[in-house]
Amino acid sequence: MLKVEHIGIAVKALETSVPLFEKLLNTACYKTETVASEQVKTAFFRQGETKIELLESMDEQGVIARFVEKKGEGVHHIAFEVTDILAEMKRLQQEGFVLLNTTPKNGADNKLVCFLHPKHTNGVLIELCQEIK
Ligand code: ZN
Repeated sequence: MLKVEHIGIAVKALETSVPLFEKLLNTACYKTETVASEQVKTAFFRQGETKIELLESMDEQGVIARFVEKKGEGVHHIAFEVTDILAEMKRLQQEGFVLLNTTPKNGADNKLVCFLHPKHTNGVLIELCQEIK
């Protein structure tokens, strides 16, 4: 894995959280994007090598809505950039980790993504992401 590409933070409303993070990071949100497959709206901030991704659910039953309901707003996942997502998925599977999707999905920010089951990663939801070239 190359680096922490971004940290995903679940929020109730981008409308209030985007201005909050703009103040916190002293940088403007450079992109908002809807990810239909996940039923979420996302907002991105660049901070050096890493990004912050805010996630707001568009669906009351969606994973982000359920996360916020159960745990409140907060860190939702850590995303690592990889050069070959299929190879990394295979390696992790062989190491006994459980993939939440067995084929890479189209994620936000022009990425192929795969999530690992947090049960096997000390409760941390891990995302692998590879830029689509
Ligand atoms: Zn993410």
